Amino acid sequence: MPSKIKILSPDVANKIAAGEVVQRPASVVKELIENAIDAGASRITIKVKDAGKSLIQIVDNGEGMSELDASLAFKRHSTSKIRSAEDLEGIKTMGFRGEALASIAAVSQVELKTRSIEDELATVIRVEGDVLKEKTKASMERGTCILVRNLFYNTPARRNFLKSNQTELRNITDVVSRMALAFPDVEWKYISEDEILFDLKAETLENRVKNIFGQTQFENLLQIDEVTPVARIFGFISKPNFLRRNRAEQFVFLNKRYIYNKMINHAVFQAYESVIERGMFPFFILFLEMDPRKVDVNVHPTKLEVKFENESDVYKTVLTVTRKSLSSNNLIPAVSLKNQNDNLDIQYRDTLNEKEFGEKLRLTGAPIFPLKPLEHLDENLFISAEKESDKIITSVDLVGKTVDTEEIRKEGMETETATGSKPIWQIHNRYIFAQVKSGLLIIDQHVAHERIIYEKVLSTFENSLPSSQQLLFPETIDLGVRDYELVKELLPHLVVLGFDMRLFGKNTVIIEGIPSDVRAGNERRILQEVLDEYRNNENAGVKDVRDNIAKSFACKAAIKSGDKLSVHEMISLIEHLFLTKMPYVCPHGRPIVIRISLEELDKRFGRT
Ligand code: ADP
Ligand code: MG
Repeated sequence: MPSKIKILSPDVANKIAAGEVVQRPASVVKELIENAIDAGASRITIKVKDAGKSLIQIVDNGEGMSELDASLAFKRHSTSKIRSAEDLEGIKTMGFRGEALASIAAVSQVELKTRSIEDELATVIRVEGDVLKEKTKASMERGTCILVRNLFYNTPARRNFLKSNQTELRNITDVVSRMALAFPDVEWKYISEDEILFDLKAETLENRVKNIFGQTQFENLLQIDEVTPVARIFGFISKPNFLRRNRAEQFVFLNKRYIYNKMINHAVFQAYESVIERGMFPFFILFLEMDPRKVDVNVHPTKLEVKFENESDVYKTVLTVTRKSLSSNNLIPAVSLKNQNDNLDIQYRDTLNEKEFGEKLRLTGAPIFPLKPLEHLDENLFISAEKESDKIITSVDLVGKTVDTEEIRKEGMETETATGSKPIWQIHNRYIFAQVKSGLLIIDQHVAHERIIYEKVLSTFENSLPSSQQLLFPETIDLGVRDYELVKELLPHLVVLGFDMRLFGKNTVIIEGIPSDVRAGNERRILQEVLDEYRNNENAGVKDVRDNIAKSFACKAAIKSGDKLSVHEMISLIEHLFLTKMPYVCPHGRPIVIRISLEELDKRFGRT
């Protein structure tokens, strides 16, 4: 019986192997750029047509190849970068598998023009589906020019598998951007059809990041550079107020090679733990430099994934370095006290009359602010929990007991007239200054309250336990058609939120109860504002209905900038703020708290 197993012809074998390395035009671009980098090029030009489907051209000014090397280069497992299995242990080049050119040539029509410094003329080679079609000589400067035409012309299934030009071009742009980030000392030109997409001179990493991501984005980054026993880690991470809705902008390079590594991404994410909202991700560009023997880059055909000898060391190092940077930058945007003439008109006393105070009590809502009288309000009142190296404030310890409202009112007034010695002030009816152990906190009262209400509403939704204050007289509200339709759509959620209401037909609703954070009499205005805000958020891309309602309601029900607060209210606000999951960032991503450390103040006053 003839054997049913046959050894495949080299042609078929090559096509199969090519599938691993060459999946799309972007993979060709990546391999060819890597070759140019390995050849020591300081200038690389990439030109594509039809998103690389019909043409990819890469020109470099690297060391080039001799005639003999040029023909060997297309053989499978031909490489100048390693000699033995031991060499695999400490790879310093981008390539080493000796597969790229063979794989590319198996599925396209390739023309290579290359000249090394020793040769007078360049070698020109034409290869088509693996077969050498032509070899001639031509003149050119030192370097290599490679043209890849009609990718997958002989493997229609793969060609059909390609995505739209827009998508494929985006993939190529991603590859070029990553390479340009990893090699800022190289000059890059990237052209699609006849449009120049990148034209980057050799520059510093800082400028490269600016040029690729833009000045605004750059200003929201923190630069880091730490040398640790495990690795040198440098690059940029986003400030906590500049977060993204997806992971697309997370760049990790290991010894200049762009890699994808869940573990590293997680380590960075972990460092942001206390300042990041669910569904948000930090933007970062991190370069790890480490002994190549401590990592295996040969675990993935396209070398995208790597294996670290000691994963947990790398994890810890990345986490520590990132965390350190965040905390030494005070996690929150640094304050600038540049304008020396600014009169820091600190109010030691609030002079609210009793009526206003009572109103405020209702407005800020006892449910959110179970006010606590203060017994030991001294400078140690706010105790910042200093965790190891980082000084992230995680809790504020206030001493207090609950008393009835009448008592608070009386005591409140008294305490207020005696706040001169208390380490908390409201300025411009907008910001709260609080002295803490490590320095000074400045809190934006509106966004702080917004954060508190936001989290409260989310938990109300989660537990489906509506809390509503019944109105003495149900109110009938006439809404426009659009608003009526929106209320109809959101009704079940609004009811849980505490708007106890019924649809009455003819664009009319009847409200019988309101959320505990809404002051009676304001329900009409707040409902209207919530609906408007809901639409704004929806247009801005907030997809989740409940999240949107929580955001809109928090924004509209929160105390405003301009509202005067009593000391009790300020304390209560801060206390509740630090009970939230995310005291530092408001639901829209703006900072809530700015911290100025004593050291920072000392530095500015020349005390250190
Ligand atoms: P690898 O990069 O893994 O060695 P390739 O198939 O990508 O394998 O390339 C094979 C060889 O061809 C390389 O080892 C290198 O010697 C040579 N080569 C490829 N591209 C260039 C280039 N742009 N400049 C100089 N030499 C090159
Ligand atoms: Mg290569």
